[in-house]
Amino acid sequence: MLEYEKILEYLTADSADELFALADESRKKNVGDDVYLRGLIEFSNYCRRQCGYCGIRAGNKDVARYRMSKEEILECAREASVRGYGTTVIQGGEDMAATGEWVADVIRSIKKETGLAITLSLGEREPEELKLWRECGADRYLLRFETGNDKLYETIHPSLPGKRSDRFEVLKQLREYGYEVGSGVLIGIPGQTFEDLARDIHRFGEIDLDMIGVGPYIPHPDTPLYDMPTAEVGQVPGTVEMACRVVALARLVCPKSNIPSTTALATLEGVGGRLQGLNCGANILMPNFTPEKYRTLYEIYPSKAVLTEQKTDLGEWLESIGRRRGEGRGDSPNRLERG
Ligand code: SAH
Repeated sequence: MLEYEKILEYLTADSADELFALADESRKKNVGDDVYLRGLIEFSNYCRRQCGYCGIRAGNKDVARYRMSKEEILECAREASVRGYGTTVIQGGEDMAATGEWVADVIRSIKKETGLAITLSLGEREPEELKLWRECGADRYLLRFETGNDKLYETIHPSLPGKRSDRFEVLKQLREYGYEVGSGVLIGIPGQTFEDLARDIHRFGEIDLDMIGVGPYIPHPDTPLYDMPTAEVGQVPGTVEMACRVVALARLVCPKSNIPSTTALATLEGVGGRLQGLNCGANILMPNFTPEKYRTLYEIYPSKAVLTEQKTDLGEWLESIGRRRGEGRGDSPNRLERG
């Protein structure tokens, strides 16, 4: 595995050309040219948390809140299925009105009607809930640890009263319950140093992640972090180039994991940002299936880019860049090998 020092060197080198070439080669060798599409459903923007970076934090009174009904979610999943997708990703704030049993019912219905692989990204929920959802058929879970620097984490992601937030512990539980486990970090958090980031990337390998999602931190004016001072020395920039270095290093550290070219990359640099991600290690895209009337309300950061099948034929676009649309569920080869 790549050593911490080497990771740090790649993060801070003048040029990323060598890193990007190595990562692209590794991607081709380990996961091939297939790019799997995941139908993203942002089902609720209610959240009980006060994350300093996130526009749908509980404290933001300027957001109109919504929660999709089970039928609305099912309709989006059906559409993804009709369009030949193998997976749907259900993401939202930590919305406790979406109870364990309610989510379980949604999972059962999607499975029964479409057979799609289901990825959940619902934040830090109770172990019993995670276990129940897995038993109902959920396949994968995404929970970024955001930063492994404890002090920084506590400032940007306050714990709930009486319950210390420990995302590494949740990741362990997810593995134990048999999920395909995904995590990742924000890049360019005020106060985040290159050393922090190098340690985080090294940790991807230690946890042996099956999926890795990373993206630049994009400041949201209605959040406390917007005004937070950056580190005086060694501050990581929240640029597409830096995020691509992290994608590339993630590929080298976890060669057989599934890595999306994320929406945040496209928000900063349009389709070119997404393409850069695919060219330096990524093998997944997550087109948005959230109904239009809700999409703008899921504003975790401003001017979020939207990739939709309606506007672009992604199969054709992928072929034009020398890749291919993956067929089927696109399970993480890393997970498949672990058994
Ligand atoms: N409630 C879920 C899903 C959150 S949204 C959870 O907490 O896991 C998914 C990801 O969006 C987060 O993990 C975070 O890394 C990212 N995100 C949130 N706010 C952001 C911002 N301002 N800029 C860039 N990414 C952001």
